[in-house]
Amino acid sequence: MANPQFLSYVDEHQQQFIDKLAEVVAIPSVSGDPAYRQHVHDMGAWMAKHLKELGAEVELRPLGKQVLDGQEIDLPPAVLGSLGNDPKKKTLLLYGHYDVQPALKEDGWRFDPWVLTPDPDNSGKLYGRGSSDDKGPILGWLNVIQAHKELGLDMPVNLKMCFEGMEESGSEGLDELIEKEKDGFFKGVDCVCISDNYWLNTTTPCLTYGLRGIAYFKISVSGPKRDLHSGVFGATVHEPMTDLIQLMSKLVTSEGEILVPGIKELVAPLTDEERKRYDVINFSVKDIDDAVGASVALSDDKATTLMGRMRYPSLSLHGIEGAFSAPGCKTVIPAAVHGKFSIRLVPDIGLEEVTKLVTDYVNAEFAKIKTKSSMSVEMLHGGEPWVADPNHYSYRAAHKATEAVYGVAPDYTREGGSIPVTLTFANILKSNVLLLPMGRGDDGAHSINEKLDTSNYIKGTKLLGTYLYELAKAE
Ligand SMILES: [Zn+2]
Repeated sequence: MANPQFLSYVDEHQQQFIDKLAEVVAIPSVSGDPAYRQHVHDMGAWMAKHLKELGAEVELRPLGKQVLDGQEIDLPPAVLGSLGNDPKKKTLLLYGHYDVQPALKEDGWRFDPWVLTPDPDNSGKLYGRGSSDDKGPILGWLNVIQAHKELGLDMPVNLKMCFEGMEESGSEGLDELIEKEKDGFFKGVDCVCISDNYWLNTTTPCLTYGLRGIAYFKISVSGPKRDLHSGVFGATVHEPMTDLIQLMSKLVTSEGEILVPGIKELVAPLTDEERKRYDVINFSVKDIDDAVGASVALSDDKATTLMGRMRYPSLSLHGIEGAFSAPGCKTVIPAAVHGKFSIRLVPDIGLEEVTKLVTDYVNAEFAKIKTKSSMSVEMLHGGEPWVADPNHYSYRAAHKATEAVYGVAPDYTREGGSIPVTLTFANILKSNVLLLPMGRGDDGAHSINEKLDTSNYIKGTKLLGTYLYELAKAE
């Protein structure tokens, strides 16, 4: 249980916490556009100033330079903070990011994206870019610290904090910092907590213990030196597009089954314990229909659908570069085409293994095609999958905190996409990482009308604080 004074403080300061969120939403810290870079630096400075006022030791660590749209500019700094170093307490590392996705009113936002706007219909939704991703959650941590400072309460654990300003743009410079500081700033960290993902739905809090990785491939097929006209060269030459379509049709079935041999066999076996976690998740196949706007789910079974998204690999065909794709009836024979596809990875499918399996298979299938075209296949970029032990004391602490604050047990979820820094912390610091989301599945993190529900912000602040108390007691 958290200190009851802390919980009342959060309720009493709801409006002040919302005002503070409005203050940071008003700083358009878009990391992907050089025109906004000063705002990202301003937001880093805001974080440092407020953490110092709350009694933390803070350092703004420069991460070097980057080239963006042809300009060389400074990367936003990592904000490194420490609060407490009592050897009798556990040390928790918090991670969050203070940069945001771009947003323009004319993209279809109901309100100015840089003005935190409460829903006029009183639903409690607070609209604004970064409200949920990730400024609400990082302020949640600051709110917890503020409550303890003002009430004169002892923090239950030591905190180390790492807030970056480049998460939405590939976390440039961060891996190097973590590697460099693993025996410096990050020394003594017992476990890591990241609040930067979402509930699966809009009603049930969750703890996230896995993320799929990715391997992104390109198959290039070429033949003639230039594009040709089918009236002149049809039935005269081998056509690269025909060869590429044949190859791409050998990758996956319409039911989503991956045809590359050897991949299925690498998937970590499903235990009874894990299987049960999917059965109890508050979810229905209709949620998929609603999310995609059509009834096109691969399965009618809830657990099968969830496992497809969370614990099995998937192969998706993304596009063909070089193909004729404009409207109309151009009779071109493209000279060279590049098919793009990716595979979402799960334990224990490693990036290196999957790359070899795909390359060997595509080469073998190409050899069966009677063509004089040339073909090459390459992996363009990739990230390994991650899964944590959901029975670790940090997860048990978050489970108890969720029950205390929300009155329900959390769902245990794995995300279909990736949050690369999770893997960096897990691998370099050899630490358990807990993903403890604040926002709901419909927050619209990277789209228009991003919002955070007031109740998620306020209860989320209580949840983060209560988790610290449970973590202090956990063994
Ligand atoms: Zn985020």
